[in-house]
Amino acid sequence: MTKAQGYAAQSATAPLAPFDFERRDLRPHDIQIEILYCGVCHSDIHSVRNEWKNSIYPMVPGHEIVGRIIKIGSEVKNFHANDTVAVGVMVDSCRKCPSCQEGLQQYCERGSTMTYNSPDRVDGKTTYGGYSNQIVVDESFVLNIPKAFKEEDFAGIAPLLCAGITTYSPLRHWKIGKGTKVGVVGLGGLGHMAIKLAHAMGAHVVLFTTSKSKIEDAKRLGANDVALSNNPDDMKKYASSLDFIINTVSVAHNLDLYLNCLKRDGTMCLVGYPEKPHPTPNFGNLIFYRKALAGSLIGGLNETQEMLDFCAEHHILSDIEIIPIQKINEAYERMLKSDVKYRFVIDMASLKN
Ligand SMILES: [Zn+2]
Ligand SMILES: [Zn+2]
Repeated sequence: MTKAQGYAAQSATAPLAPFDFERRDLRPHDIQIEILYCGVCHSDIHSVRNEWKNSIYPMVPGHEIVGRIIKIGSEVKNFHANDTVAVGVMVDSCRKCPSCQEGLQQYCERGSTMTYNSPDRVDGKTTYGGYSNQIVVDESFVLNIPKAFKEEDFAGIAPLLCAGITTYSPLRHWKIGKGTKVGVVGLGGLGHMAIKLAHAMGAHVVLFTTSKSKIEDAKRLGANDVALSNNPDDMKKYASSLDFIINTVSVAHNLDLYLNCLKRDGTMCLVGYPEKPHPTPNFGNLIFYRKALAGSLIGGLNETQEMLDFCAEHHILSDIEIIPIQKINEAYERMLKSDVKYRFVIDMASLKN
């Protein structure tokens, strides 16, 4: 075991505070990583506050990890000490079920092992995430940071591991590219990545938002147009006009507003997970014009690597605000007010302060 330092929540109502713990000794296929940066995801808040009713304490959150390899296990062949690598939302899966065999580990039929708040498949101990100075992960769940990225990019890469892949995977699955018209609902951590990625794939991108103040920023990020979803004239203008919509909003809302904007055979994919369910949509909206309402969860390991390579090629990073770990509780409060453009990333060197 090696001693590790991090920040943990001791209960659903406690703020995050310094926490000393241990990381396991390396198994033959393990990699030990010094964490440089960790993104702060909305699901960290849901988990810390037990809003999904499955939290185990103490909890060390964090699943958008960029770091440097310190040590490799005896059987590791494809990674080396000092390589810059990344870890996302999962650290293991059953590896045998049809989903795992197809590289869709996020849909593992026995349940994938999450980077934090999950029992480890070998020793049963609860996994601890990226708000810490180091982590030990099986090589099959470690990603390469493409060489085209420079050291100053590392912090902006961290959010790609959750916000990036969560939006990249459905855009690829529904074959977004040149000639397709894509709607993005919501401009937050996920929405800003969806705009950048869909734009880089060659799509015509329309952002749907309720706030006028976001128009300029959406265009800077790559949106061709912005529709105010609380303005009936704007919504009429986009009726039956889009091939695909990625809906990133994670509070319950009226889905029909956006289903109306799909063309025949269009699909709206939900990637936000609200605490309370959305009101049931009007099925007429689906039956007439053969529209589909779908969902999507992060992405598999191969696809996550493909996304990192795509982002390196197209110079895509997340827009971030770097914070020291001591500001994490304050950052949560600001996130709940959408007061961040568009992701907080913790500089792990601050743990030494
Ligand atoms: Zn996340
Ligand atoms: Zn599986």
